[in-house]
Amino acid sequence: MFWYRSSDCSPCERCGVSLSDELDECPHCKGLSNRDALNLKAFRQYEMPKSNRFLRFVMLCLFGLCFVGVVYLFML
Ligand SMILES: [Zn+2]
Repeated sequence: MFWYRSSDCSPCERCGVSLSDELDECPHCKGLSNRDALNLKAFRQYEMPKSNRFLRFVMLCLFGLCFVGVVYLFML
């Protein structure tokens, strides 16, 4: 099985996960009702920006620490 994005991959209509066209049914939303699949799709779309925001917050903290370190060095 190949999980990497390639030309013969298309997003699942129900949950939005990209999967190979060779699969007849999506392994992610297999056995889920349409409602559950929609919930999964909405959850995935909600998760992405949240993790990006968290990453930006971490970067900002690191930048802040560096800035404080530089200021501290100049104060010596
Ligand atoms: Zn699916």
